[in-house]
Amino acid sequence: MVEMSTGTTNLVRTLDSVDFLKMDRRTFMKVVGTIGASAFLATYKTEIVDALELAETKLIWLHGSECTGCSESLLNGGNPDIVQALTKLNVNLAFHETVCMQQGIWNDGKLVNTAELNSEILLEELYKEGNYFLVVEGSIPNGPDGSGRYLVIGNKTFKDTLGEAAKNATAVIAVGTCAAYGGITSANSDVAKDTDYRGVAFAKNDKTKGMLQELGIEKPVVNIPGCPAHPDWVLLTLGAVILGKLKLEDLPAALDEYGRPKVFYPPDHTVHENCPRRGYYDRGEFDTEVGGEKCLWKLGCKAPYAHADCGIRRWNGSVSMCTQAGGPCINCVDPGWPDSSRPLYVEREDIGIAGANIDTIAKVAVGAAAVAAGVHAVRRMGKGE
Ligand code: SF4
Ligand code: SF4
Repeated sequence: MVEMSTGTTNLVRTLDSVDFLKMDRRTFMKVVGTIGASAFLATYKTEIVDALELAETKLIWLHGSECTGCSESLLNGGNPDIVQALTKLNVNLAFHETVCMQQGIWNDGKLVNTAELNSEILLEELYKEGNYFLVVEGSIPNGPDGSGRYLVIGNKTFKDTLGEAAKNATAVIAVGTCAAYGGITSANSDVAKDTDYRGVAFAKNDKTKGMLQELGIEKPVVNIPGCPAHPDWVLLTLGAVILGKLKLEDLPAALDEYGRPKVFYPPDHTVHENCPRRGYYDRGEFDTEVGGEKCLWKLGCKAPYAHADCGIRRWNGSVSMCTQAGGPCINCVDPGWPDSSRPLYVEREDIGIAGANIDTIAKVAVGAAAVAAGVHAVRRMGKGE
C-alpha cells in the first residue's frame, strides 16, 4: 500500500508538468488507468475548469432491477465525493431516483403537478431537450413473454423507459454487472426463462441479446461491470468521455469484446497478478479455512480469471480489496457472473491435472509451487488464452 501510494504520488507530481489537453487518447487513458479519480481530478483541476467553461454535461441515471449498490459505491467514494467530482467535471445530474427529490404524483389515475415534483414529467422534458448521457444501473426484464412487465414503475415498464431514454441519449453507460450483462438477476434458475433479464447491450456474454438490440436501438454503450462497480471506474470513464479524451468513435479500440474499458479491465491482466496474497500462491501455501493469511485459491478464489485492476487500484480509498480483506474474489466483473463463478467458494480446478488430483501430484513430485503454476497453465489452456 505504501509503495502504491508513493508511486501514485510521484506519478501525480510528474503529471503536474504535463499539459493534459495535449495528451493523445492513448496516453490519457494510461494516466487515467494508473491514478485514482481523486488524483486525476486534483491534478487536472485547472485544465478541466478551462476545458469545461462552456460545456455542461447532462446525466440521466436510471435504475432497473438492482440493489442500488453501484450508486452506494459511488456515493461512498469519498475521495473525491460525488458532489466534488461532478462539480469539477461540470456535470448536471439531471435525474437520479435515489438522490433527486422528484417523485411521481398521481391523482385519480392521472399524472399531475410540475417537473419539480413529478419524475415522469421531468424525464419527458429531459428526453425532449436531448444532449445527455444515459447511465443505467440494474438489469432490464424482458419477460413475461417479451412484455417487460416484471418491472413496472409508474405504470410503465422499465423496458419502455429505457427505450425512451436511450433514443435521444448521446451514449449509454451501463454501470454494474446487472446493467452490463444481467448480473445476479439473470442467474440460472427455474424462472430465468420467464423473467428473461437482460443487460443494456448484452445478455450475459451474448451481444445479440442486449435490451437495446431487442428494442432496435443503436447507441454507443460502455460497460462498467462490477458488483458493485468501483467509483474510480465510473468517475474516470465519465471524466474521459466528458473531456472528449475518450471519443465515441474511439470506443471500439478502447473497449474489450465485452464493452469494458480495457484500461480498467485489462484483457492481459488479472486480479490475481497483483493480489497481496500472491506470494503464498506461488509457494503453494493455501488457506483451507477462512480467516487465515495464505492464498484463498482452495476457498474458491476466482481472481486468476478476473480481468480487472482491483489488485492495483484497491477499494475504499485504495485501502483494501476483496482478497486482502480475506474474501475470495468471485470475479464479479465477468459477463457470465454469477453462474460463471459458481460454486462461489469452492476450488474450481479440484479435478486436477490430467485426471490426477493436484494434492497427489504435489506429494509425488513437482512441489506445490509447480502445481500451482500447472493449474494456472491448465486454466489458460481451458480458456484458450
Ligand atoms: S488465487 Fe486469489 S488469494 Fe490466491 S494469490 Fe490469486 S488472487 Fe490472491
Ligand atoms: S477482487 Fe474480484 S470480486 Fe472483488 S471487486 Fe475485484 S473482480 Fe470483483
